[in-house]
Amino acid sequence: MAKDNSGDNPGPYRPETLAVAFGFDPQTAMGAVKPPVYLTSTFIYPSAQHAKDVHRAFFDAEGPLVGISNHIYSRLGHPGLDILETRLAAIDGAEAAAAFSSGMAAHSSIALAFVRPGESVLYGRPIYGGVDMLYSQVMPQFGLHFENYLDGTDPEGVRKAADAALAKGPLALIVAETPANPTAAIVDLDLMVAVADEVGTRTGKRPLVVVDNTLLGPFAQRPIEHGVDLCMTSLTKYCAGHSDLLAGGISGRTDLIHQLRTLRTTWGNHLDPFTSWLVVRSLESASVRIERAMSNARLVAEFLRDHPKVAGVTYLGFLPEGSRRREVYDRQCKGAGSTFSFHLHGGEAESFRMLDHLRLLKLAVSLGGSETLICHSATTTHYAVPREMRLAGGITDGTMRLSVGLEHPDDLIADLRQALEAV
Ligand SMILES: *Cc1c(COP(=O)(O)O)cnc(C)c1O
Repeated sequence: MAKDNSGDNPGPYRPETLAVAFGFDPQTAMGAVKPPVYLTSTFIYPSAQHAKDVHRAFFDAEGPLVGISNHIYSRLGHPGLDILETRLAAIDGAEAAAAFSSGMAAHSSIALAFVRPGESVLYGRPIYGGVDMLYSQVMPQFGLHFENYLDGTDPEGVRKAADAALAKGPLALIVAETPANPTAAIVDLDLMVAVADEVGTRTGKRPLVVVDNTLLGPFAQRPIEHGVDLCMTSLTKYCAGHSDLLAGGISGRTDLIHQLRTLRTTWGNHLDPFTSWLVVRSLESASVRIERAMSNARLVAEFLRDHPKVAGVTYLGFLPEGSRRREVYDRQCKGAGSTFSFHLHGGEAESFRMLDHLRLLKLAVSLGGSETLICHSATTTHYAVPREMRLAGGITDGTMRLSVGLEHPDDLIADLRQALEAV
């Protein structure tokens, strides 16, 4: 019996192939081609001895049931999680993966699992607002220190920031979001890994490199292949891709994922059976959706770049030849994504006029869904950021973030054209 789709070994298959069926064995579900949704909170033991063996395997990693999928209670693990985590790890090219109830649940779990009071974290700005809040405001209440780098492609600047972090306490994590929200600032993953190795050699404690891969997703950017320790993805966005659920995933080495899974049992922030099933289903078509969204985005970005009322477009595909960021992009990314920003001539009033004239594009935060979403950054996603900091990060009063979806690109462009006429 061929077990190509279900075994632990992804074999020679590419991520697009693994996304379709890997991680589920129809033999476990009466031959059903698709996995069932295992809506249960608890699992029956065939005997008292089996119950003891299951607990021994889970808590002590000993006994006859080690390595065999057995379940106790859904907060500790359930079949839907097994399928999703096996598939996600295979797609990311990692040893293992863990799924959480949201992207922020995944980020918080990393912070709580791998940083101790007195240690420091180095992360780049700009970064997703929730991650910034986590490391600059929430974790400092637990005795954590933080430091930022501002250009993730500048070796000297990143090393200086790492030294500043080390001056505050042992460096536990280097966190990178690339491309970063909302300006598409790029971070050099090879540089992050090199700096972590250097810190490890110098201090005897090598920080873990954590990458948020949400904006390009697992098909267009492959952080694990660059040697990062943990690859985090908000599955809410492109991977699930329909703006109808929240979920987060982390891929990485077995020992690190094991720690995260064990603690997840205590914190109770696992992904539930139905949402796990929805994500598994969505992963099958993710690469095709992302490809189409990316080709639509290029056409929309080109239209905006050439429009007289648009002051500029921050789109990875337009990085100038010969620039350092372009060199990193060419080495690291297989596509420019479909989320980018553009800047209108004018400010809030002009932006609002344009937004209120849109008929097809939807005014909402979030990204990576099948529908195209747009928002005015300064008054929504970056509302709480002081104006000077916003401007320093490239967000003007005329900046809008666009997440291009799967509509016909001509319809998107026509809608933007008529809305821009109203400015
Ligand atoms: C949305 C997002 C998150 C948080 O994910 P949730 O699923 O909303 O919790 C983290 N990082 C990035 C880059 C995101 O876009």
